[in-house]
Amino acid sequence: MTTDNKSFETFPLAGMALDPIHVGTGGSRLGRVDNTIVRDPVTRIPKIPGSSLAGVMRAYTAMHYENSRQEKDRSKPYYPDCAGQGGGDSGHCSQHDCPVCAVFGFATGKDSGGGFAGLAAFSDMHVLLFPVASQLGPQWITSPMALRQVGRDKLAEIGDLPDQNALYRKSEGQAVEPLNIGWLFLPVKTDWGELNGLASKLRELGVYDYIIRRLGVVSDKLFTHIVNSNLEVRTSVAIDPATGAAEEGALFTYEALPRGTVLIWELTCRNPKHFKINKKNDLTAVTSPDAVKDVVARADSYLEHLGIGGMGTRGMGRLRVLKAQDFSGTGATGKEDS
Ligand SMILES: [Zn+2]
Repeated sequence: MTTDNKSFETFPLAGMALDPIHVGTGGSRLGRVDNTIVRDPVTRIPKIPGSSLAGVMRAYTAMHYENSRQEKDRSKPYYPDCAGQGGGDSGHCSQHDCPVCAVFGFATGKDSGGGFAGLAAFSDMHVLLFPVASQLGPQWITSPMALRQVGRDKLAEIGDLPDQNALYRKSEGQAVEPLNIGWLFLPVKTDWGELNGLASKLRELGVYDYIIRRLGVVSDKLFTHIVNSNLEVRTSVAIDPATGAAEEGALFTYEALPRGTVLIWELTCRNPKHFKINKKNDLTAVTSPDAVKDVVARADSYLEHLGIGGMGTRGMGRLRVLKAQDFSGTGATGKEDS
């Protein structure tokens, strides 16, 4: 499917939070009251910056290649050298046969004329489906805006809702009763044409059937309200690392995306054939956009166990990348300067 001529290929990916996820506005500093999470400045919906995702995927990919390394004589280990920000003597190996440095880039190294931006680019991770309690059990709420954010030809043509104050869901033969969504009591409607196609599009992204059966669509305005008033807010105590005791007055609260939140993002993979490393060497670690995607996917199981964001030691941050059914790319390709 991938041809040598494409300069890049874009893959939509979805993931589900297995724990609450906290990606804070001020890094992951503890001991501060009211740690808020990053929000999109326009929609006010929480998101995970692509730079945060790229950082952890780089570290986990490096761990994977170090754990499965066969060569004994490699000058630098993949981990920790090729993980992290690079720079200094402990920096990236910057070799043309290193999958970590090829895919995630490297800072200027000993043997290189200059840095390399890397072949993979990560979009921000957006909330696609947000879990909320109702009298019928958990419901996963979304909105036209949330559905349109990424995934272009999969979800882009979603139209607006006829009734901005109702919740739309498939009836599944049940009586259509109003639904308690968190603090809101919403009339339920079923006459929105997009509902049928939506299930199959979400299924293609790898979203589980039990979530799709409990899907509700509301207006963008209601969605913003529902998400922000149903975030997980936890209170914790900062521990003094010197004494192991609670610091006096160090009670703090922090917010997080709740477990079960489904996020969506895009991975853009540049074509390795269009680049040379250190001005002369072909990239031998990867040879196609698909191969770039496969390198990044090595990090998935680490993300599922080690997580993303702060408070990892408090049982937070684990995220499962869902197995998309048919994503050899969206067909979103184009020319770019290399
Ligand atoms: Zn490297």
